[in-house]
Amino acid sequence: MPGLDAIRDAVRKFLRLSGPYERAVEEFIRDLQRALLSADVNVRLVFDLTRRIRERALKEKPPPGASRRDWFLKIVYEELVKLFGGDREPEVKPPYTPYVIMLVGVQGSGKTTTAAKLALFYKRMGYKVGLVAADVYRPGAYDQLRQLAERIGVMFYGEPGSRDAVGIATRGVKELKERGANIVIVDTAGRHGYGSEVALLEEMKRMSEAIKPDEVMLVIDAAMGQKSFDLAKRFHEATPIGSIIVTKMDGTAKGGGALSAVAATGAIIKFIGTGEDVEEFEVFNPRRFVSRLLG
Ligand code: GDP
Repeated sequence: MPGLDAIRDAVRKFLRLSGPYERAVEEFIRDLQRALLSADVNVRLVFDLTRRIRERALKEKPPPGASRRDWFLKIVYEELVKLFGGDREPEVKPPYTPYVIMLVGVQGSGKTTTAAKLALFYKRMGYKVGLVAADVYRPGAYDQLRQLAERIGVMFYGEPGSRDAVGIATRGVKELKERGANIVIVDTAGRHGYGSEVALLEEMKRMSEAIKPDEVMLVIDAAMGQKSFDLAKRFHEATPIGSIIVTKMDGTAKGGGALSAVAATGAIIKFIGTGEDVEEFEVFNPRRFVSRLLG
């Protein structure tokens, strides 16, 4: 994450820089803005954040014994954590069962892989998990999910050759629940067979009305960048997004787009994907994430 990595450099510079505190603060804020913008974080978000930091830095007084600079960095840390979901450690345990999760996102984001990772994660928590292959447009999606389900040992439902995504999802959820699944994860299409995004979103909407998922998770690629804001917003309008999974955090991508998706939906990031393997998957932790950013 080269863009966000620059935050760490800005912190080092801030602690080193001699001269008046106010000037160091201004310089740090400029560096922070640059780092966030280069990581594709939404412009409005960046300016709101830095305005809050500046206000607090000028208004609030450091507690006795604390150096002003350390205290300022604590404000920066807190505000960044807030931006990434705050102290709400994401609740990943379903509040009740059976629980239906619908995964949405564009093709190539890693949705199918993520469906399997999520299934394995919940299987290890002791749930009986089922996967439904409702991506009827990407060739190979059915086989890919069927093989993954077999490999990790969870139930599977699909209708090879069928184009009726809404029907497959409906029948799949019903059948897997009947077979005893506590958690059903539905993999959906990321691109519509007829090309248009409107058609895809319309289908997501119809599917979600049909299966009434308990949670819709948006899968986004860490490399998506600034486009994440509009994308997340459009998905959110079609079917309210409850949480976000950011994939490919292991790559060179900056990941800042994820933050824009959070801003666009009000949803929290629950998981991150850190590799191609089904094992490479973690619960998202805002504090750990920000601590890593600040070095
Ligand atoms: P879909 O079209 O959204 O269903 O995407 P796939 O699940 O087929 O994934 C697209 C590509 O991204 C595949 O090559 C996956 O192995 C890869 N991929 C998925 N998640 C991750 C991840 O967290 N890290 C890395 N490095 N690759 C991933």
